[in-house]
Amino acid sequence: MSRKVLVLGEARDGSLRNVSFEAIAAAKTIAEGGEVVGVLVGKAVSALGAELVHYGADRVVVVEDEKLTQYTSDGFAQALLAVIDQEKPAGLVLGHTSLGKDLSPRIAGRLSSGLISDATAVEVAGGNIVFTRPIYSGKAFEKKIVTDGLIFATVRPNNITPLAKEESKTGEVSSLSVEIKDLRAVIKEVVRKATEGVDLSEAKVVISGGRGVKSEEGFAPLKELAQVLGGAVGASRGACDADYCDYSLQIGQTGKVVTPDLYIACGISGAIQHLAGMSNSKVIVAINKDPEANIFKVADYGIVGDLFEVVPLLTEEFKKLKVHS
Ligand SMILES: Cc1cc2nc3c(=O)[nH]c(=O)nc-3n(C[C@H](O)[C@H](O)[C@H](O)COP(=O)(O)OP(=O)(O)OC[C@H]3O[C@@H](n4cnc5c(N)ncnc54)[C@H](O)[C@@H]3O)c2cc1C
Repeated sequence: MSRKVLVLGEARDGSLRNVSFEAIAAAKTIAEGGEVVGVLVGKAVSALGAELVHYGADRVVVVEDEKLTQYTSDGFAQALLAVIDQEKPAGLVLGHTSLGKDLSPRIAGRLSSGLISDATAVEVAGGNIVFTRPIYSGKAFEKKIVTDGLIFATVRPNNITPLAKEESKTGEVSSLSVEIKDLRAVIKEVVRKATEGVDLSEAKVVISGGRGVKSEEGFAPLKELAQVLGGAVGASRGACDADYCDYSLQIGQTGKVVTPDLYIACGISGAIQHLAGMSNSKVIVAINKDPEANIFKVADYGIVGDLFEVVPLLTEEFKKLKVHS
C-alpha cells in the first residue's frame, strides 16, 4: 500500500545534516512507492531543497520566517504542524538528533499520535512496516509496527544507508506561509562550544578517551589519530568529570549516542553507561592496560597495552597506509 511520507530536513550552518538523507531513505521504505515530501523549516533554507530531492525526496515544502532563524520547539512545531495539516501524510520521519528528540514528542502529542523513536532500521515484512530500535541501553533490540494512525518515527544517525545522490533529479520546491505566533522563548544568539573537526554524532570514525588518558594533554595522541583517520574525538564521562575534556564529547547513556563504522576506545573501562552510547558501532577496538576490562566484552579487536604506546604506533601505521593507498 503506497502512502505519502514527510521528512524533516535538518540544516546546520547552512548545510543539511546527513541524517536528513538517511531519514529520506527510511521514508522511501515506509512510503512503499508513494510520495516522499521533504520539509525545510528555518530562515533562508529553500536553497537546500534541491539537495533533499537529489537524495530521493519527490518534492519539498519550505516554511521560512525570521522567527525560525534559531530552533525553538514552539516555532518549529507550528511550522511542521502547518505542513502536516496541508499535506495530510500517512508517515513522518525525523532524525533522532537533539532537534528531533525535542520536537517529535511535541508533534506526537499535538496529533495524538504514537511515536517510534530512535529506530536503527526499517523494513517491509509480512505486509507491515517494521522498525527496529535498541532497548535496555542497547543490550537488546525490539521490533515495532504501527497498527493505527500516523507512522511516525525518528531515526538514529549513521544507521540507515542514504540513497545514492542523483544530481539530475528534479522536484518542486514550494513554500508555505505560516504565521509563527506567541513564541514563549526567543533565542537571541547561540554560542557554540568550540569543537574541532568532524561532528561527533555523524562521524564515521570515533577515537574515544577515558580516565586512562590521565590529563587534557593525554588527549593529544588521540586527536592526532582522529585527524589521520578523518574522525572525531569522544570521551567517557570519567574523562569529562576529571576535566580532561569538555562534556560535549561525552558518549554514553547521559551523553551522545554514536554509531560509527569504527570506534576506538582508549583507556575506557567499559561501564554499562558508556556502552549504552557506543556498543552498536560497527567495529569496536579497545585499548586497555587491564586484560579483564569490561570494554573487551564488546570489542571486535582488543589490544592489551598502554595507550600512550599503542595509539602513536597505530597513527604511524595508518599514516603509512595512507601514503601507499
Ligand atoms: C546515572 C549515570 C550515568 C552515567 N552516564 C555515563 C555516560 O553517559 N558515559 C560514560 O562514559 N559514563 C557514564 N557514567 C559513568 C560510568 O559509570 C563510569 O564511571 C565511567 O564510564 C568510567 O569512565 P572511564 O572508563 O573513563 O574510567 P575508569 O572506569 O576509571 O576506567 C579507566 C580505564 O583506563 C584503563 N587505563 C588506565 N591507564 C591506561 C593506559 N595508560 N593505557 C590503557 N588503559 C589504561 C584502566 O585499566 C581502566 O579500565 C554514568 C554513571 C551514572 C551513575
